[in-house]
Amino acid sequence: MLRLGTTSRKWLGSLIALVGICAGMAVNAMPANETPEQLLERASSIKTSDHDGFLRILTQLHQMESNLPQDQQWSLRILDAWQADFEGNDSQAIPALRMIADQASSPALRLRALAMMVNIFGFTHHYEEAFIQFNRLTELLPQVSDKGARYAALGEAAQLLIFSHHYKQALEYADQMLENVPPGKNACHAARYRLQALVHGGDAQLTPSQFQEGIDLCMQDNDLIYANAMREDMAAFLLQKNRAAEAIRIVQEHYAEVRDYNFPSQMQYSNLLLAQGYFSQGDLPAARKFALASIENNVESSYSELLSKAFELLYRIESRLGHTADALAFHEKYMTADKGYLSEVTAGALAYETVKQQVQAQKSQVDTLNRQNQILQLQRQLDHKAMETSRAYITLLLTVLASIAFWLMRTKRSQLRFKRLATQDSLTRICSRQHFVDEAEIVLRQAARSTRSVCLMLMDLDHFKQVNDTHGHLIGDLVLKRAVDACQQHLGRCDIFGRLGGEEFAVLMPDCTAREARDRAERLRQAIAATPIWGETRHVVISASFGVASTDRSGYELRQLMIDADNALYQAKRDGRNRVIYSGRGDVVPPADGASAQATEEDGVADVPHYPESAR
Ligand code: GH3
Ligand code: MG
Ligand code: MG
Repeated sequence: MLRLGTTSRKWLGSLIALVGICAGMAVNAMPANETPEQLLERASSIKTSDHDGFLRILTQLHQMESNLPQDQQWSLRILDAWQADFEGNDSQAIPALRMIADQASSPALRLRALAMMVNIFGFTHHYEEAFIQFNRLTELLPQVSDKGARYAALGEAAQLLIFSHHYKQALEYADQMLENVPPGKNACHAARYRLQALVHGGDAQLTPSQFQEGIDLCMQDNDLIYANAMREDMAAFLLQKNRAAEAIRIVQEHYAEVRDYNFPSQMQYSNLLLAQGYFSQGDLPAARKFALASIENNVESSYSELLSKAFELLYRIESRLGHTADALAFHEKYMTADKGYLSEVTAGALAYETVKQQVQAQKSQVDTLNRQNQILQLQRQLDHKAMETSRAYITLLLTVLASIAFWLMRTKRSQLRFKRLATQDSLTRICSRQHFVDEAEIVLRQAARSTRSVCLMLMDLDHFKQVNDTHGHLIGDLVLKRAVDACQQHLGRCDIFGRLGGEEFAVLMPDCTAREARDRAERLRQAIAATPIWGETRHVVISASFGVASTDRSGYELRQLMIDADNALYQAKRDGRNRVIYSGRGDVVPPADGASAQATEEDGVADVPHYPESAR
């Protein structure tokens, strides 16, 4: 089969003039003030049609190279690589293309470089390298949207697969080419690779008209080489169908054209097709002539299918003519050529498999790494989750602890409140009755052990009911508080002061003699009497009566002390109030300020009733 490259080779030089003419010389006109981008584009489009013009633009672009942006510098390099390849200088082209494929920022440029490498390595029979670049190309393809680059890359891929006899895959690439035809172009190359893949893949549905459609597409693109290549394919197809006359006619019609642009491979194929056509028509001399011509055209003494088939045909011709010696000689050559060709094909197929295996091995390595990565990521996520969970636990714990602390604090506060309520009188803030009794008993027990004297003073406000009745309950409360305040001025640190109930109070005085107790009771009496209290409309005069008892006489039992002090207080009330009576002796301490036993009020409430006996 005839193989065509998108890159040019030495022999293609002679084609340029022709292609230039066919493509239309309009492209040669050099528009003034072109941007570097336009220059690059134009250079690329006239590479084959106007090679001299292409070289001029290349020189022009090199003069401005240092000022070009990175992307355009890479585009220029790919044109340089193309030119090196064109000159047959692969040792210069390949490293440049490798660099572009590895480093160019634009994926489209990288794809073009890979496509060129696939072509060069395929042409030079470096199949393994060709397939390595082929693989890179197929991996890069999805990243590239530029149709020109995609179309070229898909074409190279299809061509390499056809050569290595992977027709099914080749057809897939050719079909993809149909979807990527660059604007302004026809699907000429795509049509050729499709038909090649179908012919060699043994598609039974093919018709000559499909070839004709492909030829028409190429003619519309002025692509004579591809049009003629497809005519050859069509002739081969017709020969398969035993339509030798039509095959010969098609090839003959364009024979001169192919010969004139001197494309040896194509010429070799045309000659072989004619030889095969004449052979099947029984024109053995003509067949021999074209078979020999085909061998003449064989490029660079390499083995090809065409060469092998030409020798095979010559062997048959000579056999049929009875030229045994010649037949044998050709048979030998046929065998050698066929072996050479087959080893080429095998090398191609082997390279395909080798690279496929390598890629798969690499992929499984990458997969393993990816899986390890996934496990690591999962591990990290788990750690993170565990950290979050423990953080949540700590927060919960802290909240619970804070709640407990808050609850404890509240409990403590209410405990203190209850304790205060239990130990303190809410109005006067002195000891409650029970607390007074508890404290007094402790003091008395301690005092009993040391036999120190303790005195108890009971105090009752005089005519307090009258105060309430006259001034109201609120003033009554105020009087109670003021009386307590007045007493506290004269009490010692160790004295226990308690409200026994209503307007009745008690003071337990540790380490206190009866005399001292009486004196202090007297001071309290005077202080209370001297306490000025303003009612709502007038002064409230108050006084209190005191009964004092001492452990000296009553003993250290609180109960007895209370009875004795209470009796003394009762006595004080009976004796006219506002006075102090010491228990047991009728020992009245008369009021120092000369106040009468009867409470007086400045406001003129004179007829205040005496301390009622029944009240006690
Ligand atoms: P006496 O001189 O004989 O002690 O006469 P009195 O009026 O002080 O005694 P009495 O026992 O007849 O009245 C005591 C009054 O004290 C009766 C009650 O209304 C009043 N009282 C008791 N507790 C309180 C209180 O907390 N606040 C007020 N405002 N009055 C109280
Ligand atoms: Mg009373
Ligand atoms: Mg009273």
